[in-house]
Parts: sequence; structure tokens; C-alpha cells
Amino acid sequence: MPLAFIGHGSPMNALEDNAWTRAWRQLAEELPRPRAILCLSAHFTTKGLYAVSAERPRTIHDFYGFPRELFEVSYQAPGSPELAGRAVSLLENRAGLTEDWGLDHGAWSVLRVMYPEADIPVVQLSLDLGLPARAQLGIGKALSPLRDEGIFILGSGNVVHNLREIRPGQETPLPWALAFGEAIHRLVLDGDYEALADYQSLEGSGPSVNSGEHFVPLLQVLGAATGADRARAINHDYVWGSLSMTGYVLGG
Ligand code: ZN
Repeated sequence: MPLAFIGHGSPMNALEDNAWTRAWRQLAEELPRPRAILCLSAHFTTKGLYAVSAERPRTIHDFYGFPRELFEVSYQAPGSPELAGRAVSLLENRAGLTEDWGLDHGAWSVLRVMYPEADIPVVQLSLDLGLPARAQLGIGKALSPLRDEGIFILGSGNVVHNLREIRPGQETPLPWALAFGEAIHRLVLDGDYEALADYQSLEGSGPSVNSGEHFVPLLQVLGAATGADRARAINHDYVWGSLSMTGYVLGG
């Protein structure tokens, strides 16, 4: 199976028909139909790693100040205790199972657009932000055998994500956001994924990855890639000055 990292941006993308969401939908049409989806979302962080083993994961509305319509979204994809167990076994002693989570908006805002029928099982695996970048790449590598088992590994975050610096309505990225986003873009398209272990040395990394959780899913997705996977970008774009909407598809 190919791999993908999606820049999810505002939760409102779950409801909107825009250029970004049309690209997500088109991606789903191009990909082979997965047996199940392992989702690495920015919005599920824990100390240690946990895979959600619920049979019927609940829809979590983990945001404030959005229209009621968004709080009424229910994405009723089944879970897969089997996939959760498989992910944990691939991570050996680094991960455990939990039923104390479901699908957060990092997962469902994208999945609702890509797979509106909600008929493909989804398992979320948490992020441990205490781990260094090289270990995050290693988590992806450990999970990579899932690709041969028909599992779609989907990262959901944003390459550049700084809510303190957002400029609503501004279309051009702030200089540091552009510098970092484009440096990452070149490394990903060149297939130089290992260089991302040293992303903190890139210009603009401090404000662009100020809290980490939106960037880590990209590291994990790239860690699951091989030298044979060519990367292509979707939605190579920025919004509100300090957010990148760029996504990457690898392989296939
Ligand atoms: Zn987010």
C-alpha cells in the first residue's frame, strides 16, 4: 500500500468542499482500497504509545468555538482490534492497547472526506512527543510491514503549525514558515527522509514545529517508506501565515 501524510488544517475542512478536500477525495479514489487504516493523528498524544483497540471507536470532538454542525459529525467507521494488536506487536515492548480513545478530529476530518461511507476499519495509534525525531522515524519503520498486509498508514498533521502566529485571512506564509515548509518539501521530494531526523537545524524549525504534535506524523509516515517509494506532494499550500496544508503521498 502507498503511504500518505495529510495537512489537515482547520477542523472545518471536515465539512467544506474546497481545493484541499477535493485533493483528499481524489487521493482516496486513486489509492487501492485498504483492508484497514492505521491513523497517526496530531491530536492523540500520550506518554508511551497506545493503539486503540475499540470495536466501535467513538467520534471525539476535541475542539472549541466551532459551529454546532461540526460537533454533530459522527464518523462511524468500525475499529479493528486485530490491527491494533498487530501494530502493538510490531512495536514490541514500546506500545500497548487502549480503549480510552476513539477517532479525534485529526483522523475523522480527513477520513470523512476520503472515505465518506465509513466502511473501512480505522485504528488510531498515539504519538509520544517525548521521543526524538530519529525514534519517530523508527516507529514508522517498525510499522512498515503493515503496508504488505493491505493497511493504509495515514499521518494527519501539518508540516508548519503555529496557532499563536496565525493571521486569519492572510494567504502568504510568514517568512520562517515558508523557509521551513520549503526545506522539508525539498528533502521529502528528494527522498532524503533520514535528513529529517535533523529537522531542528533547518531555518524556521523553531516556530514551525513549536509544539511538535503536527509534525511527528510526517516523520512516522516517512519512516515507513523505502528507497523505492517516490514521494509526490498534494495541496502544496499555506494558509493564515503559519500553517502548511501540504501533504505527501509515497509509493503507488
Ligand atoms: Zn490539528
